[in-house]
Amino acid sequence: MIQFDGVTKRYVDGTVAVDDLTLQIPTGQITVLVGPSGCGKTTTLRMINRLIEPTSGTITIDGEDVRAQDPARLRRGIGYVIQHAGLFPHRTIVDNIATVPYLLGWDKKKARTTALELMERVGLDTKMARRYPYQLSGGQQQRVGVARALAADPPVMLMDEPFSAVDPIVRKSLQDEFIRLQSELRKTIAFVTHDIDEAVKLGHTVAVFKVGGVLAQHSTPDELLAA
Ligand code: ADP
Ligand code: ADP
Repeated sequence: MIQFDGVTKRYVDGTVAVDDLTLQIPTGQITVLVGPSGCGKTTTLRMINRLIEPTSGTITIDGEDVRAQDPARLRRGIGYVIQHAGLFPHRTIVDNIATVPYLLGWDKKKARTTALELMERVGLDTKMARRYPYQLSGGQQQRVGVARALAADPPVMLMDEPFSAVDPIVRKSLQDEFIRLQSELRKTIAFVTHDIDEAVKLGHTVAVFKVGGVLAQHSTPDELLAA
């Protein structure tokens, strides 16, 4: 479980992006953070993998304070997927997916075999393995982004609007396949979106943020819809 305890983030210009956040992200579930632009969702996510440091408060993963861990080591256990995939343009798809295994010094052949298996898992034709990112559609690039984040089999995944930049039909198939994948993998997932329909569809629970970085509600989709 990921636990936020009284976490506040105030940027140097004085902006309070996250205000006294206490939140639990249970192990093996999808917790969706939803709310309008600027309400602190991305800041919240990036404090988990220490791309951003809180001003005050504590974040623990399975009881261990994230500040007690070396950031690079911490990030090996945390897959990260962003809106425009962030693929390396000069690396092939298979090498993009194998980025973290290469960093970890895996045998190259094992890293590539894993990458090819992951391509199948996320619904990509392995014939695309030697292509470069610009030769793929936006939806295919997002699949590569998900596969890359999964490559070292991290227990935790942070996903920041991963399906927001693709058209509605592609988005629906990405969401459906993601639900199927997660039912096998059971990762601990913090998933950011501004789309309430996506939140309700994907979340075991949904944390609703308001402008000012305040958590307004954290409940199941059914409770949210009934409110
Ligand atoms: P969201 O992901 O919900 O759109 P963010 O976490 O990106 O929200 O931003 C929350 C607030 O913090 C916004 O008001 C944003 O403008 C502000 N903010 C984000 N990054 C910085 C920064 N580096 N410096 C100052 N303010 C920032
Ligand atoms: P280096 O310091 O050698 O450049 P980084 O740790 O910055 O290595 O990682 C390089 C790239 O690999 C990052 O830009 C990021 O896109 C990707 N990456 C690193 N760690 C992860 C992770 N846990 N999940 C997904 N991608 C990652």
